[in-house]
Amino acid sequence: MIEIKQVSKVYGAGAGAYTALDGVSLTIRENEFFTLLGPSGCGKTTLLRMIAGFDFVTTGSLVLDGENLIGKPPYLRPVNTVFQSYALFPHMTCAQNIAFGLRMLRKPKDEIARTVAEMLELVQMTRMADRLTNQLSGGQQQRIALARALAPHPKVLLLDEPLSALDFKLRKEMQIELKRLQTQTGITFVFVTHDQEEALTMSDRIAVMSAGKVRQIGRPREIYDQPADRFVADFIGETNFLAANLSAIEAGGACLEFAPGVRLRARAPKAGTSVGPVTLAVRPEHAEIVSPGDGHLEGELINIVYFGTGTAYHVRLREGANFVVRTQHADILPADIPVGDRIGIRLRDGAAQILGD
Ligand code: ATP
Repeated sequence: MIEIKQVSKVYGAGAGAYTALDGVSLTIRENEFFTLLGPSGCGKTTLLRMIAGFDFVTTGSLVLDGENLIGKPPYLRPVNTVFQSYALFPHMTCAQNIAFGLRMLRKPKDEIARTVAEMLELVQMTRMADRLTNQLSGGQQQRIALARALAPHPKVLLLDEPLSALDFKLRKEMQIELKRLQTQTGITFVFVTHDQEEALTMSDRIAVMSAGKVRQIGRPREIYDQPADRFVADFIGETNFLAANLSAIEAGGACLEFAPGVRLRARAPKAGTSVGPVTLAVRPEHAEIVSPGDGHLEGELINIVYFGTGTAYHVRLREGANFVVRTQHADILPADIPVGDRIGIRLRDGAAQILGD
């Protein structure tokens, strides 16, 4: 549906020039909930603004549904945007806000009335139709902003951190709500967030960005379980980084060695990786505490943190690095081990991801 090829954006010129996007290429499919995820300043909003047409690309191409977008003004693009600030008209009612864009498009009166009623129902705000938008809660304003943006039936809806002004509980509710709206309308959503949990919860696919570049594109599970590099592994979830020796690469897998005879199977590394020292990423829940000598690693238990649904064990490895093991309370918990004891850590088969760089 959207083809972004080698898009770069440079703000300013000469010594003050700043590259906000650096050769970004990605394809967003029809009916997809696609998320641009990355830390503040990585270029997410810039990319969204390029798709919306609020700003020009410096180089590269942008095609939507087979149509070249370069040079097309925003109002001629079949795209609508929901902003973080909602940008509702405070002196208009909810219904008038939703009708506004349709009036601009000179739609017939009965069609406008029908669409407004449909949209109010879609976001479950029918009883608020005649209320002024400055008399609504944050969550209700968000729903009206969504209804207004969806009313002209755009092919693509762009959402720039639309949930960031909501409190934690409402945010969780709206995450589910947004996903429902996307599925129900079948409209392609391009969603911007710096919140990795939000991205994992809602998206069909995620593009992880840093410093104007795309680091990895994949389904939430792929991004979490098979991070392409150290940045992605570190940015998404909690990760232990670990040195090991890659002793063999075989068909469909690899063999890691932590000490003579202490081996673990791992997924095959990226093409071009050679045997020798490598860095591994291991999620804390993919490891378990065992007796010293029984695991792949060994160290001293330095802290135990209870966090409600589970417990985290902080271990200082023999080599000096720290390692966290997280257990869920549904798992069989290790017997009470006093802080200061020596323990072993066993990594589950396939737990270690060999990082590219
Ligand atoms: P955030 O999550 O904080 O909104 P972001 O990933 O959306 O961050 P962008 O707003 O796309 O980041 O900005 C990317 C970089 O480009 C930033 O370093 C920003 O300072 C810079 N930038 C954005 N707009 C301009 C501009 N008009 N002129 C100069 N630099 C800009």
